[in-house]
Amino acid sequence: MNERDSEMISSQLQYAGYELTDNEKMADVVILNTCSVREQAEIKALGKAGYLARRKRTNPNFKIGILGCMAENLGEKLFKLNGAIDFVIGPKRLHELASVLEGNGQSLCIGDPKEQHLSRDFDRKLGKNKCTAFLSIMHGCNMRCSYCVVPRTRGNEQYRPMEDIVGEAKFLAENGIGEITLLGQIVNNYGGRLMPTVDGKTPFVQLLERLDVLPGIERIRYMSPHPQNFSDDLILAHKNLSKLCPSVHLPIQSGSNRILAAMKRPYTSGRILTIVEKLRKAVPNVGISTDIIVGYPGETEEDFEETVSLFDTAKFNMAFIFKYSPREGTRSAELIDDVKESEKERRNQILLQRVQEASRHYHQRFLGKTVEVLVEGHARRGADTMFGWTPNHCKVLFKASENDIGKILSIQIDSSTTSILSGTVTENAQGKV
Ligand code: SAH
Ligand code: SF4
Repeated sequence: MNERDSEMISSQLQYAGYELTDNEKMADVVILNTCSVREQAEIKALGKAGYLARRKRTNPNFKIGILGCMAENLGEKLFKLNGAIDFVIGPKRLHELASVLEGNGQSLCIGDPKEQHLSRDFDRKLGKNKCTAFLSIMHGCNMRCSYCVVPRTRGNEQYRPMEDIVGEAKFLAENGIGEITLLGQIVNNYGGRLMPTVDGKTPFVQLLERLDVLPGIERIRYMSPHPQNFSDDLILAHKNLSKLCPSVHLPIQSGSNRILAAMKRPYTSGRILTIVEKLRKAVPNVGISTDIIVGYPGETEEDFEETVSLFDTAKFNMAFIFKYSPREGTRSAELIDDVKESEKERRNQILLQRVQEASRHYHQRFLGKTVEVLVEGHARRGADTMFGWTPNHCKVLFKASENDIGKILSIQIDSSTTSILSGTVTENAQGKV
């Protein structure tokens, strides 16, 4: 989501006549697009702003801006923490950036904007050699998970009109983008109660159906869905829609029902297993990944063992594992952060090991098989080694050329590790996707 916001920020400034530079030292303006989900992310951004402040001594016109969730979360405090900061703009007000840059003195733009800008995502400039793109379908979140700062920084759910999303997807397809990833905090809640369910299909599935028939769009992904709304129509969509990729990122946070209830996540581990089973049955070789928080206040060894046991059964082939970080203003910040850092780290390592085993095992099923890979760019390993992803979201390395970027190639897999598949191009699919 932040990556997409950064694109919006740079597109907006390019339309206003600014130029992007790869060299930070050449920049007249540096914008830090920040995250507040964990404290560490904020500490890092503040450190970077401190480092940038020194540039003001030699160039008084140099400007520093803090955008994104930390801007919303800390607001005016940021000017006190670092007097060199020129502007602070929250995620709901990003569209005001160009006009803020015209002004002088310190500017603070947080809270709700005067007018909603749900279509603001449309004005985009696409980088060279780009064949995949994020597409925001909604903003904000109506859930109140006890640990999470996002509803505070991004506000309540707001859905972009379906026509705008389809229009943006067409624009992307016409400009060489073959793969889109739909974004939202709870992407499968798209439309909420404001859009009707039709023939048992939720608005999110209706949207997927419309995108599935767009010429030029070869792959559709989405993130993140919430287990509560992961309804059967979505599972059926995975079976029926040819462009919808067999890969689902399903954040579960914990395998302990006691901790899930404390987190205000309205589902049980049983519900997760049902979704995983149904998906595996409906979609061959489906890749399933997740997010986990270890060391939530009061998480006992038994609670943690339940998460491990859920991992053993569900066999997630990828997971982001986060150590719990108390965030001011959230409900859980009032609880004692009683799981020691070393214990959080131990739990983190145990789950990482589980995921690596599951991933190695998952990758092995592709050995000797031919997979379809969308070529995205150069791998770090030598000039003629390229990388791309399979529909199930496995990363593949192979020998090819820069001209192949954006094509879907058939690759025969001859080796696999926990994180990567390697193979040989067997036959070129026609044209650029
Ligand atoms: N809307 C998504 C998650 C967005 S935040 C969902 O509900 O699935 C991305 C991830 O950050 C979360 O899934 C969670 O695992 C992690 N996270 C959020 N708040 C956190 C906190 N206070 N400490 C540690 N991890 C956190
Ligand atoms: Fe945060 Fe929960 Fe909303 Fe995800 S669903 S953004 S974790 S409040």
